[in-house]
Amino acid sequence: MANSGNKRIPVAVLGATGSVGQRFIELLTDHPWFEVAEVVASDRNVGKPYREAAAWRLSADMPESVASLPMLDYSADLQSPLVFSALPGEVAEEIEQRMAREGRALFTNTSFHRMDDDVPLLIAEVNPDHAKVIEVQRKNRGWSGFIAANSNCSAMHLVLALKPLQDAFGIDAVSVVTLQAVSGAGYPGVPSLDMIDNVIPFISTEEEKMVIESKKMLGRLDGATFVPANMVMTAHCNRVPVRDGHTECASVRLGSNPEIEEVIAVFENFRARPQELKLPSAPERPIVVRRENNRPQPVLDRDTERGMASVVGRVRPCELLGLKFVVLGHNTIRGAAGASILNAELFHAEGLLPV
Ligand code: NAP
Repeated sequence: MANSGNKRIPVAVLGATGSVGQRFIELLTDHPWFEVAEVVASDRNVGKPYREAAAWRLSADMPESVASLPMLDYSADLQSPLVFSALPGEVAEEIEQRMAREGRALFTNTSFHRMDDDVPLLIAEVNPDHAKVIEVQRKNRGWSGFIAANSNCSAMHLVLALKPLQDAFGIDAVSVVTLQAVSGAGYPGVPSLDMIDNVIPFISTEEEKMVIESKKMLGRLDGATFVPANMVMTAHCNRVPVRDGHTECASVRLGSNPEIEEVIAVFENFRARPQELKLPSAPERPIVVRRENNRPQPVLDRDTERGMASVVGRVRPCELLGLKFVVLGHNTIRGAAGASILNAELFHAEGLLPV
């Protein structure tokens, strides 16, 4: 599995026909380091060209370079050393573990391995140091490859916004209410008759994931053990009739009592390892602050920084916890495929890919 010279690294996309899989295909087109070489989905589609297997639902055209690739199923002997997974959680375990055992670097969006003690749950700007745990994982499991995960799409945008606050002021408590887009449930997702003219105040296991995943990412890696962030946190998660882009209303009790302008400056000045390394998918500004009192909005703001930024607005005092704001971000770009690709770029730049 060696990669020589400037040749792009061949990658496989698992679940390539789904909502997140299609984003992978779109975002990897013309990528400077990675090239889609293999597309994998269920055995329903095996042997068909990608153009026939995928009901393409993105506004950009399906890339020609991928359209004619034959669909593989999970038993195929893949050649790619780098694999992105957008599988349903219930089928991920065996397939993802096999990929890592076979020596591949596997970056997953599924929830199955996120909370494992030896799996990094990464946001490249937030906890790049957690990547080190892959050495523990390899040792524990006897793998030459590894699994690195990214979080639930709502936790991703919340944690991106919380990280600079945690660094600057400390965080004691967080309460968040989410308004989550329909594409977050995959395709076809929630039936249209349940969704139009409606809000559904329940997304299975989402509230639990928001809390445990956020605490893991904002926590620290102490040798071989993750120590979750010491904060009280609660989440209400709602599905709303928006196509793409999760909106989240957060109230936070900080460890000190800064002025609102100081908080805004902390958001706006946030830069981290991906920006230092100028990674190809890194947004110039991971957090963009809107000062208008009616922003951010999904339709206007989800594509900020090519969908890779979290957009914060309505930063103001909270009567209950001290500070409140709204954060919005694209759920299938920064919330899923884009975040995985950025993690893989970070690993590549840091010399952690087995290629
Ligand atoms: P999706 O639209 O339902 O796509 C699922 C993909 O998995 C399709 O390519 C499908 O292939 C394949 N698949 C379905 N059943 C399978 C089976 N039994 N065996 C093998 N492959 C199967 O789902 P999605 O929204 O893209 O989500 C993919 C993963 O990303 C999930 O784990 C989800 O939790 C996670 N995620 C999603 C989002 C989001 O905003 N949507 C954000 C973060 C994380 P066929 O076309 O051949 O059926």
